[in-house]
Amino acid sequence: MTQPSYKEMWENLNLDIEAHDGLLEVLGKFYGDIYMSQQGRLQGMEYLDFVLSEVHGLRIKELMDAKAQGRKIIGTFCVFVPEELSLAVDAIQVGLCAGADAGTEAAETIVPRNTCALIKSFIGFKMAKICPYTESCDLIIGETTCDGKKKAYEAFGEMAPMHIMEIPQRKEASDRELWKSEVLRFKDELEKITGKKITAESLKQGIKTVNDKRRALQRLNTLRAATPTPISGRDVLLINQVSFYDDPVRFTQSINTLCDQIEERIAKNEGIVPENTPRLMLAGCPMAVPNWKLPYIIESSGAVVVSEESCIGTRNTRDLVDESGETVEEMIDAICERYMKIDCACFTPNNERLDNIKKLAEETKVDGVIHYSLMFCQPYTHETFKVEKTLAESEVPMLAIETDYSMEDVEQLKTRVEAFVEMIS
Ligand code: SF4
Ligand code: SF4
Repeated sequence: MTQPSYKEMWENLNLDIEAHDGLLEVLGKFYGDIYMSQQGRLQGMEYLDFVLSEVHGLRIKELMDAKAQGRKIIGTFCVFVPEELSLAVDAIQVGLCAGADAGTEAAETIVPRNTCALIKSFIGFKMAKICPYTESCDLIIGETTCDGKKKAYEAFGEMAPMHIMEIPQRKEASDRELWKSEVLRFKDELEKITGKKITAESLKQGIKTVNDKRRALQRLNTLRAATPTPISGRDVLLINQVSFYDDPVRFTQSINTLCDQIEERIAKNEGIVPENTPRLMLAGCPMAVPNWKLPYIIESSGAVVVSEESCIGTRNTRDLVDESGETVEEMIDAICERYMKIDCACFTPNNERLDNIKKLAEETKVDGVIHYSLMFCQPYTHETFKVEKTLAESEVPMLAIETDYSMEDVEQLKTRVEAFVEMIS
């Protein structure tokens, strides 16, 4: 994946070139083994392969070019940060959630060892100077979701320019008020760093662009659930991951083209796997690039993933912002309303998540659910018990997996997943 022509750009971003080359090499090999080895992939996936092959190249160059024209880059770690507002000030919002075991040793010098892999990863990426996205950002938005993240941002904030959004923990009237004030504070911050004012026109366009992206992903999520399933779970996960850093308009067009191809495949009753392949839902913590370990294990154990209940899945695409608002105030209210529907495990109580999982299991006709929590993730590990109980009421079997980004437990996970797949077959 290394492109010598980008070396100067990476040096200008102050990356550690040697460590960065090492990361790209591992990423390229991992991608080859997990993605390129698949048979019968849709032609539209070539676009995603290209995006991934240029993940630290062409896309970063686009960001650099945009910066040279005065546009700002906003980095995020959570789906609570409204991209609609960033687009309304002509900024580019990119997701920074790192999904690789890199820089962990360095990260453990400033956050406790028993912190989840996702947090250690974004800290490690920064300390090891291997993430060109992090280094491109003019502002990084943190959020007070789980305790691990909010404390880690104190350390991260000493290394990068940050703005922290307070996320309510409940969904009462006072929480909604707090959330609105935080959305307005984010709007003020964006206007300050870009020197641009959000207008009704620019916000309306921002809402439409993000809704269109979500509509394309909703379409994909509906189509993927056909029997036989026309696209692998790995590929859909990759699409969801790419949605966080690709240009939103280009991404939407490409996914709609891919969906056209999926419709043709469905019309011919063709699937990526045989019709009787056990169908699974993945639920739980988000899987950031290049965290493909569990989907790969599942899909090489004789099952196929047909739905994802996570922030890099349906939690981020299920709800749209109401588009009927005409004034900035009305549109801000619509944005607040939509984002308060997010059923992150950081909320208490969080019964919507149980209802949503039950509904998605029914809609996508799954034979079982694999609940995935990152090791040391309190919110999602706690909810594992409730999810299992809810699914048991609908007689949907569930397997709970706790893991991290290391490869040490692959064989052990494979044994457990194979046994589960055999049980539901
Ligand atoms: S799981 Fe919660 S904290 Fe993580 S990205 Fe989703 S909403 Fe944010
Ligand atoms: S995976 Fe869990 S512990 Fe880690 S950042 Fe997300 S909510 Fe926090």
